[in-house]
Amino acid sequence: MGKKLKILFAAPEIAPFVKTGGLADVTASLPRALKKKGHDIRRVMPEYSQIKDKYYKNIKYITDFETEVAWRDEYTGINYTEEEGVPTYFVDNKYFFSRPTLYENGDRHLQFAFFCRAVLKMLKKIDFKPDIIHTHDWQTAPLNLMLDDNYNNNYYKDIKTVYTIHNLAYQGRFGKEILYDVLDIDEEYWYYGITRHDGLINYMKSGIMTADKITTVSSTYAEEIKKPYFGEGLDYALRMRDEDLSGIVNGIDYNDFNPETDDSIYFNFNRDNIEKKYENKKKLQHDFDLEPDPEKPLIGVISRLVSQKGFELILHIFDELMKEDIQFILLGTGESQYENDFRRLGNKYPHRTSINIKYDADLARKIYAGTDMFLMPSRYEPCGLSQLIALRYGSIPVVRETGGLKDTVERVSKDGSMGFGFSFPNFNAHEMLYEIQRAVKMFQDKDRWKKLAGRAMKQEYSWKRSAEKYLELYRSIQ
Ligand code: ADP
Repeated sequence: MGKKLKILFAAPEIAPFVKTGGLADVTASLPRALKKKGHDIRRVMPEYSQIKDKYYKNIKYITDFETEVAWRDEYTGINYTEEEGVPTYFVDNKYFFSRPTLYENGDRHLQFAFFCRAVLKMLKKIDFKPDIIHTHDWQTAPLNLMLDDNYNNNYYKDIKTVYTIHNLAYQGRFGKEILYDVLDIDEEYWYYGITRHDGLINYMKSGIMTADKITTVSSTYAEEIKKPYFGEGLDYALRMRDEDLSGIVNGIDYNDFNPETDDSIYFNFNRDNIEKKYENKKKLQHDFDLEPDPEKPLIGVISRLVSQKGFELILHIFDELMKEDIQFILLGTGESQYENDFRRLGNKYPHRTSINIKYDADLARKIYAGTDMFLMPSRYEPCGLSQLIALRYGSIPVVRETGGLKDTVERVSKDGSMGFGFSFPNFNAHEMLYEIQRAVKMFQDKDRWKKLAGRAMKQEYSWKRSAEKYLELYRSIQ
């Protein structure tokens, strides 16, 4: 199997300790999958006060030292726990990490510069010299930069970095003055434009420019972000690093999301007894005040209600969509304008729609299990997990062909014998409607639809495959 690798994940969040987004799922699951392959995988994150007691009580002190940042020596505690077999370190400093929010603090440039410097110092103290440090998003981007600036220092000389962009929109932009005080980085980095974007220090750009390899969470998104429309102003930097930029799609936890064992759903089922899936549909219709009719295709949406997810398209053609003999169930929270628009439509079409404005992980699973189709017309989608969960539960995705949606959903062929989803290329409401109509038509042929649902459930989007791809990438820079 080749050399065993030593890899440190340095991340702003790791589930289940702290989670605000998909990043935390990646830093939870990918290390586990890599560890199973026999590598020495460890993780480090800030010890936020937001970590729940249940996990906090297992975190034990190992050592402490001082880290210099902005001319001050800051206490740096290193604490430790193991979670599902993965060694995990925590950088403890109450001043920096005992805050009301994780990332919205006025001195966040200082918090994460401190974290990155502390992590590098920690390696010497715990005597762990990784082959690769895998950093994530703007918060840990300065670590790539600091390593680059330190390349003459023997201890750090051979350590390589892989930098994963989960959300390009959040970049960490700060005034130039922090270059010396906070980052303690050579002035050349500013003059050559490595840290500079629009006259500001940009952590994300610094990370992109100084990492050995850069990844994002799907191949299509890795291409898209090199174009101005998706690039959030940094498309030129990504084009400069073109040769080192690639996409690796996220997986989902196949043990956790398993319709055969999931105790949140009404009836367990698998590919061989898909009839039981339809029992879930019946119960969902009953519990959510939808007409109890198995012949009507039931379309689900589970999402943050934000503009990224393409709700304009659904709202624009909703009345036309309702001319089809379908039902619609939505679960989501977000911007109040969308919440209100959907509530209004819910009132307009009682017994045919069920609008649930809340966050409810349990209900989400019931919807994946009980719906025939899952609608996700995103404007952009770095990876997307919902369509992967939908496939696992035999709910056929109807998606816009962007980012990870394009990479994971194969469009059903004309005769329905190949493919396992429906998709449309342009951000256009009628293209979406046409594709839904195509799905509704195919739904009428029960046998064909069952085969289609079976094919969807057969797809393999677990972490196993993605972990293999990350390993290939790590090995390419050894
Ligand atoms: P994003 O990370 O951009 O929100 P993803 O598709 O990658 O989108 O992941 C969204 C995850 O959050 C999915 O697991 C989805 O089921 C879940 N989710 C979104 N909204 C809700 C909600 N209101 N209630 C329960 N789960 C939700």
